Amino acid sequence: MKRTYIKDLKDHVGQEVSISGWVDVRRDHGKLIFIDFRDMTGKVQSVALPNNKEAHETANKVRPEWVVCVTGIVNKRPERMISKNKETGEIEMNGDIEIELKKLEVLNEAETPVFDIRSDGNDINEETRLKYRYLDLRRPRAQYNIRTRHKIIKYIRDFLDTEGFTEIETPILTKSTPEGARDYVVPSRLENGKFYALPQSPQQYKQLLMVAGFEKYFQIARCFRDEDTRSDRQPEFTQMDLEMSFVNREDVMEVNEKLLIEIVAKLFPEKKIQTIPFPRITYKESMEKYNSDRPDIRIDKNNPNLLAFCWVIDFPFFEKTEDGGWTFTHNPFSAPKPEHMDKLMNKQDVGSILTTQYDVVLNGFEIGGGSIRNHNPEALKRVFEIMGYPSEQIESNFGHMLRALASGTPPHGGIAWGLDRLVTILNNESSIREVIAFAKTGEGKDLMMEAPSIIADRQLRELGIELKKKPN
Ligand code: ASP
Repeated sequence: MKRTYIKDLKDHVGQEVSISGWVDVRRDHGKLIFIDFRDMTGKVQSVALPNNKEAHETANKVRPEWVVCVTGIVNKRPERMISKNKETGEIEMNGDIEIELKKLEVLNEAETPVFDIRSDGNDINEETRLKYRYLDLRRPRAQYNIRTRHKIIKYIRDFLDTEGFTEIETPILTKSTPEGARDYVVPSRLENGKFYALPQSPQQYKQLLMVAGFEKYFQIARCFRDEDTRSDRQPEFTQMDLEMSFVNREDVMEVNEKLLIEIVAKLFPEKKIQTIPFPRITYKESMEKYNSDRPDIRIDKNNPNLLAFCWVIDFPFFEKTEDGGWTFTHNPFSAPKPEHMDKLMNKQDVGSILTTQYDVVLNGFEIGGGSIRNHNPEALKRVFEIMGYPSEQIESNFGHMLRALASGTPPHGGIAWGLDRLVTILNNESSIREVIAFAKTGEGKDLMMEAPSIIADRQLRELGIELKKKPN
């Protein structure tokens, strides 16, 4: 018999159906055995009556998390079951109906789960949850978080597609980029001693796509940064990355603001955006008033459904390094504000140059940032000169960018959102690990796969690598 999804059972009252899924809860009342079944669409209660001997015997035997195929009659229930807590994302019980078991087939048995998967999980040690992530993800809260993440991403894709953007994948094996964090590197087998770097962001590629004439690019992009432990960071994370040609700062901010407002209105109607259009705060004001460049401007911090977005603009382009030189504050590819371009070109009054950088902040978290770029190769060269790079280094690190900019590059700019962080806040979660299916620990470990791990001596030999010290 064809499978019916649990959510559709209400349309089959009085009929015989077949459902597939997991045993959620089993309550043995001796003669009557009640079993709740669960599939990806919901839960339903069933009852095994003693007159159906075979089904009753199997119902006696099955345990939570066993995988089963059930045949039975859909009956109306006399009393209405109260649906479970919606706030935690608990799937609602199909309250009006019940299945009278006719046949119960066990497709696979399950060991007793190492922890309770019906709670919100807060009572369980996080390392244990990560080690048995496939079980942890069965939790209604996790199912809700991951499915909501999907809906947000789908909304973004559809919106940007309608706006004329093309989603383009960019390489994962690439060259070290100067984004301010440490690179993850991958040794080359064919050229021993040389290394790829995993992208900290698709920054250079997306600019090169503007050079290539795509005009509107986006990507749900995985980024890699080998940074020290922080609670709201992961070694690999996801950006909603976009870039546009023939735009100024206002154009990029406008399309992003519109998208954020729509995501909230369509997917989180219970939430309220504090101020539309999003307030704009200069970096200077933000530091003076909030002592932070990602101000939490909520008027009521106790309200979980209040979203206070704002833009922070007018950041200084450069900041002093420990040894008295200059480095960029955000992105070396950014353009200065148009009225500050002369200072950059003349390398004058460097500390006072403001960049076109804009950050979007939500409830005190930076959820995105971007800028208008230097499309003139001379301007980009100046940035590296101010940072003290000798011309050979500029050529070896950025020669490809300078040549590309010199080949007919439109003015362009873009942004990247920290998607994990945005989803975390929208889902009222406190850690990005709750919205990433297979998250790593704060120490960058995948406890389930046990990565990082040692590799075979043969693999090291092929890569031309000799370890100074053998790991444990
Ligand atoms: N690539 C930048 C980042 O990862 C974002 C951007 O400027 O578009 O922060």
